[in-house]
Amino acid sequence: MSENSISRRSLMRGGIVVGAAGTVAAATGVGISMAETPGTTAKAPAIIDAAAWNARKPSSASEKLNSQPHYIVVHHMASTNDVGEDEAAAKDIAYRVQGWHMDGNGWNDSGQQFSVSRGGHIMEGRQGSLDAIKDGGYFMRGIHAGKPANSESIGIENEGTYSEVEPPETLVGGLTELVCYIATQYNIPAAQVYGHRDFMNTDCPGTQLYMRIQELRTAINVAHGNEEGPVWAGSRLGTRGERVKSVQYLLNQHKVTTEVDGSFGELTDANVKKFQGDKGLVQDGIIGPKTWAKLNVELKQGDKNDAVKGVQSQLSTNHGIPTTVDGDFGPTTKKNVAAFQEARGLKATGAVNAATWQLLVA
Ligand SMILES: [Zn+2]
Repeated sequence: MSENSISRRSLMRGGIVVGAAGTVAAATGVGISMAETPGTTAKAPAIIDAAAWNARKPSSASEKLNSQPHYIVVHHMASTNDVGEDEAAAKDIAYRVQGWHMDGNGWNDSGQQFSVSRGGHIMEGRQGSLDAIKDGGYFMRGIHAGKPANSESIGIENEGTYSEVEPPETLVGGLTELVCYIATQYNIPAAQVYGHRDFMNTDCPGTQLYMRIQELRTAINVAHGNEEGPVWAGSRLGTRGERVKSVQYLLNQHKVTTEVDGSFGELTDANVKKFQGDKGLVQDGIIGPKTWAKLNVELKQGDKNDAVKGVQSQLSTNHGIPTTVDGDFGPTTKKNVAAFQEARGLKATGAVNAATWQLLVA
């Protein structure tokens, strides 16, 4: 977040109507109940409610789920980037997205619970979502990332297209405030922020916005009262891609035989639970910092194993450093690991430790 966007966001906080059920106290950020997480510091950002952007009435009732969502899914709208950054432009895109979802997709309302404009304005999408998050104990089931994500997560649509173009700092600033608020209200761990592409075969939220998700995890970690520092990216049932492959390679490394297909299905879920049981961890199948701490292994030149394949595959597929995936940590792999470490601000030892794994799988 730039200094500009911080001061801009601070100014915005006081002025925008919070919602139909919002009080004057809520609009000034005073008296909003925070989640029970000790040391929680995230303030409620100004959120433009659906009535304020003139939302159409849902064509049928949305489903209220009487549980907290477990993770957040970040999207881009694949809309144009040449738009205004003021509040009027934000309300306009919220209204148009609702139209695409209702008229184009045949959905009952906006699919996502929240939206962020290029100017950094935060808006309610699916109606009822703002009251839900203020309560913190329930959420409106969305339509944004398929099964199982729709019933387990909050979806955020970000205005614009970020396959090649970088998102504006105003947008990233608004998105950061929003995810910190969601995470504190719903007790969502820092690791549990994903991109749409982690669940479905899609470019969404675009590579340039996807690359910023690790910053969101870091911000949530701080919002939860922890010291600023590296965090792990999560993995769980329903996710896919290179991070899942890393999990699968590492399960094999620990003698829990798992097909490496990049798809976190029922078999991988069962194997993760087995691994967690072996290590005395809670057997929930969810990969977070505690499971990563047991799963990742240190590697150096001369090692020959499945974990080395995981590193080589990450370098090739996710980080633009072509490396043969043969499980043999030779001089070329060492050189490539060092290049990755240097590019990411780590000490370029050419050996893989936990800090290197964290950035490889982010
Ligand atoms: Zn998406």
